[in-house]
Amino acid sequence: MNLTEHVQRAVADHPENVAIHYEGREQTYEEFWERTGRFAAALEREGIEPDDRVAIYLPNLPQFVTAFHGIMRAGGIVVPMNPQYRSRELEHLLGDSGANAVVTLPSLVEHVEDVREDTDVEFVVTVGAETEPSTEFEDFLADDTFGPVERDDDDVACQPYTSGTTGTPKGVLLTHENLYWDADVADAPIPDGIRADDRHLGVLPLFHIYGMTVTMNATLFNGGAYYPMPEWEAEEAVSLIEDEDVTLVHAVPAMYNDLISQPDAAEFDFSSLRFVNSGGSGLPMEVLETWDDLYDVPLCEGYGLTETSPVTHANHPDDRRPGSIGKPLPGVDARIVDDDFDTVAPVEEGPVDEDEAALHEITGELVIAGPNVMKGYYERPEANEEAFTEADGKRWFHTGDVGYHDEDGFFYVVDRKKHMIVTGGYNVYPREVEELLFEHEDVADAAVVGIPDERRGETVKAFVVRTPDADVTEEELKQFCLDNLAPYKHPREVEFVQELPRTTTGKVQKYELAGEE
Ligand code: AMP
Repeated sequence: MNLTEHVQRAVADHPENVAIHYEGREQTYEEFWERTGRFAAALEREGIEPDDRVAIYLPNLPQFVTAFHGIMRAGGIVVPMNPQYRSRELEHLLGDSGANAVVTLPSLVEHVEDVREDTDVEFVVTVGAETEPSTEFEDFLADDTFGPVERDDDDVACQPYTSGTTGTPKGVLLTHENLYWDADVADAPIPDGIRADDRHLGVLPLFHIYGMTVTMNATLFNGGAYYPMPEWEAEEAVSLIEDEDVTLVHAVPAMYNDLISQPDAAEFDFSSLRFVNSGGSGLPMEVLETWDDLYDVPLCEGYGLTETSPVTHANHPDDRRPGSIGKPLPGVDARIVDDDFDTVAPVEEGPVDEDEAALHEITGELVIAGPNVMKGYYERPEANEEAFTEADGKRWFHTGDVGYHDEDGFFYVVDRKKHMIVTGGYNVYPREVEELLFEHEDVADAAVVGIPDERRGETVKAFVVRTPDADVTEEELKQFCLDNLAPYKHPREVEFVQELPRTTTGKVQKYELAGEE
């Protein structure tokens, strides 16, 4: 079955269930399906053919879901674009993908128009007011439904962009099989899987594979209700959970940190929640522990990448190890390998106390094989060459993350390979210093980067957001690190900032902090 057929099965099984709930309005599965058919028919009317690319440049809205599955039904390839992107970024994404159409908001049309001349964009559809020369979404929908076009497992369904380990964003070719397979197994850590009576908070951005697969598609495969939230707003998320009896939350660590830092965090009624997952970037231990103290439902960490559609690892509430990204999902092969691609032996039980010498022995690069691994990067033969190793009859994808595993099958991510700081010949993984800073009561958020240093090559610098009213000084934080870490790891510079530049999936934009282009 292709992705469309998976959703169609849920439509047939649960026609009257709520598929999408947004601002008090509900769309049943039947209504949602009818709209996707009319969207597909409109695309066909406008000349979109199988394998043509259609960009969705929208925040999380019901229309994102309609457009996504409408494009699938017409046999097209979705190019999701972050609504925070501006002309410069669009120029690259639209140019590289060759997208023929864009679905967006009236307030974003100007950025498309800025670059349209240099792209293959033939028409633009806007959600809301008509903005010349675009067509309004409801007017665009055809009168009749249409689809699905024949699509095979191996046909590309979606082309999100990711920077991976190098600068310019690359298109990631995800097939129907990649997408439905991962959406199908992503609920393995949830007791009973996703159910038809689940209500799933849709705060992870849909342009990112994590929101797309784990919140939108996995819910729509199972007859559950998806609650899109266009923006992260802690208060709004709490109201939705409390008022709508939300049962499932997938979010990024920065969102959980925000929730537990609210002055009335202890009073939130989260009793409806039956599964809560954090992914997208490392979950600081401090955040996990505070969450666990406050609420009954355990916070379970998972891990994945755009290139693996995305989830590869997850903790199960009944089989959870704090500090770990969990075990590989059923059907996913994961290894820790050294530079010669030999498997690094597991430790007896993690997480281990990290120090450089110990880490050196037990860590390696995390590599993944499985049906969720991308077909490849779009038109990047060199990047594809670097990304894969054939071994033991499998095609292994190099994640670029450094980690280790233990004899019980749990995996641990230490940091990204390229974030490692080499200072005076010693290796420092920023994550370890960040974890320590998080333990300081005056620290609300922290990120550590390497900055050039004449004597040591690189040196450690910390960017810190203080908690409200805290007056901890640079010297005190340096001393705190010196007291708790090997001296070469302590930040020689601490800069206080109002907030950290984060992507919508919670990753700190370290190149920005390090002053790189
Ligand atoms: P993306 O392609 O945007 O999904 O980013 C994938 C990257 O996010 C991975 O290579 C990791 O560096 C990071 N990441 C995702 N989940 C975790 C996690 N639980 N712990 C540490 N890093 C993570």
